[in-house]
Amino acid sequence: MPRVLVVEDDAQLVRALKINLQARAFEVEEASDGGSALRLAAAHRPDAILLDLGLPDMDGVELIKAIRGWSLVPILVLSARHLSEDKVRALDAGADDYVTKPFSMDELLARLRAATRRQQPTAETAVPLVVTTDTFTIDLVAKKVRREAETVRLTPTEWHLLEILVSNPGHLVSQRALLREVWGPTHAENTNYLRVYMAQLRRKLEADPAHPRYLITEPGMGYRFEP
Ligand code: CA
Repeated sequence: MPRVLVVEDDAQLVRALKINLQARAFEVEEASDGGSALRLAAAHRPDAILLDLGLPDMDGVELIKAIRGWSLVPILVLSARHLSEDKVRALDAGADDYVTKPFSMDELLARLRAATRRQQPTAETAVPLVVTTDTFTIDLVAKKVRREAETVRLTPTEWHLLEILVSNPGHLVSQRALLREVWGPTHAENTNYLRVYMAQLRRKLEADPAHPRYLITEPGMGYRFEP
């Protein structure tokens, strides 16, 4: 059953969307602000996101950029803003499609189906629940890391960073996306946090932390887990 994350602070609209989506065999999760939307998107990996641009805690465009740092999930924007520059901003940030409120439910569902069809399932979207390398093993469900039969203790921040990276194997995750996701939108420029925490993760996981094999830096851009 495809899972849709509905990010919208208008409770009435959420109810209407939920009824219509569930009637068409979508599983629905809801978030009424950007912060919880980010957490749910990262933790539950929905198959599509319906996103209102006017959220109480952040601009929806910022949320699109944050999600695009580490995910290719189809994002369909719902907005009361009619100006084409808003559409352009949302599409430039990585939204797949745009529906202006008020919209017909049939049109929305047709666009949602089209957006989810375009996303071909690939090996990368199906992240295994246990990631195994020659050096360490990460159980994403039990939240446990082992290295040579020893449990590796990670702080919640280290775990959060590692979880995002290994959930996107082989893909660059931007510094901005990591900072926003782990430390929040007000820390999007604190790249020194990333350097410190990535160094700690490498000390705990890499055979040769100075020459990492798995936790790779893309200078000036971000980090990548190389499986
Ligand atoms: Ca709103």
